[in-house]
Amino acid sequence: MSRQIFSDWDIPKHILDALANEGWEFPTEIQREAIPSAREGRDIIGQARTGSGKTAAFGIPIIEKSEPTGKPQSIVLCPTRELATQVCNELQWLQGKKGLTILPVYGGTDLEKQAKKLDSGVDIIVGTPGRVIDMTKRKHLELASITLLCLDEADRMLDMGFWPDISWIFSNMPERNQTLLFSATFPQEIIDSTEEFLNEPVTVMSDDLEVEVPEIDQHWIKIGRANKLWAVSRILVNMSDSDQCLIFCNTKRMVEMLEDRLGKHRFSASTLHGDMSQNKREKVMAGYREGEIKTLIATDVAARGLDVDGVTIVINYDLPDNPEDYVHRIGRTGRMGRKGQSWSFVGRDDLRQLERIRTTWNLNITKSDAPELPENLNRDPVRIRKDWNESSDPFGMVRISIDAGENTITSSLSLSEWIISQAKVKELAIGEIQISSDCTTVDIHAESAQRVLEIMERREFNGNKLTANLENR
Ligand code: ADP
Ligand code: MG
Repeated sequence: MSRQIFSDWDIPKHILDALANEGWEFPTEIQREAIPSAREGRDIIGQARTGSGKTAAFGIPIIEKSEPTGKPQSIVLCPTRELATQVCNELQWLQGKKGLTILPVYGGTDLEKQAKKLDSGVDIIVGTPGRVIDMTKRKHLELASITLLCLDEADRMLDMGFWPDISWIFSNMPERNQTLLFSATFPQEIIDSTEEFLNEPVTVMSDDLEVEVPEIDQHWIKIGRANKLWAVSRILVNMSDSDQCLIFCNTKRMVEMLEDRLGKHRFSASTLHGDMSQNKREKVMAGYREGEIKTLIATDVAARGLDVDGVTIVINYDLPDNPEDYVHRIGRTGRMGRKGQSWSFVGRDDLRQLERIRTTWNLNITKSDAPELPENLNRDPVRIRKDWNESSDPFGMVRISIDAGENTITSSLSLSEWIISQAKVKELAIGEIQISSDCTTVDIHAESAQRVLEIMERREFNGNKLTANLENR
């Protein structure tokens, strides 16, 4: 069987020309499976992994079905402005010489200018829900004439955050006769909810809703707050000139803080989050796409859909709250069969969340150490610190192991009295002491552990120097 090529389909010549221009010859799997049904006018639930070409899977039929009449016929809704821009650009080149007016409609840009453009005629809208509703209410956009609705990142668009807006848009589109939903993830409850507004949809989906993740080497590092900056620095110093890194934090504040802290250690990075001006957001995205910006720190505004060729490394500085977000975040690398790697920082309180992510998607995430320093560096740009909290048990105790056994430490009482008098710690700060033939362990409250280690380094116990270390557990 020979491989399907785009020109096997009787799609219009202007699209075929555009595809050829772009150097695309073979449709991807999701394109092969979704495009024929979409062309027939069917509703579609299309699931395929990140970076597998879903945009053209809905883009080609949308272009084919729309005519340059100046009346809006199709609308694509996206969760973020960055994604709306990107999708709009792809539809733009996909249409070739068809002459459709395709407009992005999202917030943060001049309302008047946008209204003027809409007033002078538009065929396809690509936008975010808020601004689309706004423009409709101001009568610059006529949803009533639109027959085709597409939700990119559909599970996100249908979750509770966006649902009120989407539902408003649905109810203002009486002529809607085709609905296309695309995403890499479709939680079952979202699929169930689509019954309300889809009409005998064709479902294109991998088995058991399992996501296949592209070629991404997924690592996790056991690390607490105190040393995440050190771990980031280890990854950043190992980047080559052709690498680009995307770091996800869970809050805007953390994004800003991390940029600031990295800056203090002379790492340059840019940020992207929802509190930035639209102008700044666009500048940053352009710089990142161009590869001028090597490291971008972002909230989940960057998690969905963004297709930046050069992203080779994704870091979850914080683990995401939703298992879906994990898949989307790491999917910013490994686009279209390229290789990528992801690093997730997991403190002991995050272990359960990591397990949840792993089991939800049946993922292979390998426990690793932070990368070694490269050969041309002999010292860490960020020093690693003793992270007492990360090593303590639920009672706040950490375990110190001493390189001396019963010959040196003859009784636990003598050791604890020595610690109390030398380190000036309270008796309560000392827990269990176990002495064996060649090694001794002492449990110490995390708050006092640093002092205890210090006196062990400096002072002698019964005329012996003790070598003590924090035990990792
Ligand atoms: P998804 O939405 O599934 O994450 P995209 O639509 O963003 O993926 O596509 C990922 C990348 O693959 C983009 O850079 C896109 O231009 C490219 N691409 C998509 N389809 C093809 C194709 N048939 N041939 C070559 N490149 C493609
Ligand atoms: Mg996409």
